[in-house]
Amino acid sequence: MAKERLYGKTPGELSAVAAEAGLPSYAAKQIAGWLYKRGAPEISSMTDLSLKARTLLDQKYETGLTPPSSVASGADGTKKYLFRIADNRFIETAFIPDRERATVCLSVQSGCRMGCHFCMTALQGFQGNLSSGDILNQFVSLPEHSLLTNIVYMGMGEPLDNLEEVLKSLEILTAEWGYGWSPTRITVSTVGLTGKISEFLERTRCHLAVSLHSPFDDERLALMPVEKAHPLKEVLDVIRSYDFGRQRRVSFEYIVFRGLNDTQAHIRELARILNGIRCRINLIRFHNIPGSTYSSPGQKELEAFRDSLNAKGITATIRASRGEDISAACGLLSTLEQNKKQ
Ligand code: SF4
Repeated sequence: MAKERLYGKTPGELSAVAAEAGLPSYAAKQIAGWLYKRGAPEISSMTDLSLKARTLLDQKYETGLTPPSSVASGADGTKKYLFRIADNRFIETAFIPDRERATVCLSVQSGCRMGCHFCMTALQGFQGNLSSGDILNQFVSLPEHSLLTNIVYMGMGEPLDNLEEVLKSLEILTAEWGYGWSPTRITVSTVGLTGKISEFLERTRCHLAVSLHSPFDDERLALMPVEKAHPLKEVLDVIRSYDFGRQRRVSFEYIVFRGLNDTQAHIRELARILNGIRCRINLIRFHNIPGSTYSSPGQKELEAFRDSLNAKGITATIRASRGEDISAACGLLSTLEQNKKQ
């Protein structure tokens, strides 16, 4: 019988594990310390637990850390790792070095059910939620783990569609008994699931990024089916009603498609709908995916769009395209790997 993974459990969950092994409740914090502070590779390494308790735990549990199964390295230093998860499926994790920053981009689901029309992961359909252990394993088993300065939840899947496991992983990342990371170094991205945004904002201190892509309802709906159930207008109402304070940031992700969402009308409408929200827009050049009818803007067009937004008082920056030579579009690499196995 497969053993249950300890990695990804909070002290609350580890209390039940400790009780099973006849350990006092404070042992949950000891186990958490071994998992997240000391990086114990195995239960047998947890030497302040009695031998009897370790033997009992070992019968049913394992730490559950797994290394990546393969890597693609880009000329610019970007790396894309594939991690194997249950049922022989693969998820992608990107490592993106950029001068003094080193960012890991985590996946939260296998596939995705949001169906964005420009996204390769959407073509895989929804195959399952990742556990907090699966999410954190991408962070701690990354070969460049010790270099990391930032974490973004922007890989495969919609984080707020797997909110409980995402929140658990964030708790472990930011708690004193966990990795002790500042929430200001972590950004969670969403297509904008209105009810879940409020919950996310109440229960964490991490930054929020919202995928915007068009300020016009019909155009956004054509790109992102989620617009129907969660209109951008309602998403912005939730954001307006929340006090982000000085430390916390909201940003908007805007994939730029040539001739589709980069006109003067878009600039005027963006200025109108974002009026009063302290934010910035990250412009991302569309990465082509097989079979897509969308096309990417040139660098000059992208810069002109950015400059026009800035002139309207909207802080806009261009996110440099990274790893173009290693299937930069999220979901492309794992789709290729899964197709190989079929
Ligand atoms: S862009 Fe994100 S939310 Fe949309 S389908 Fe792809 S993975 Fe899902």
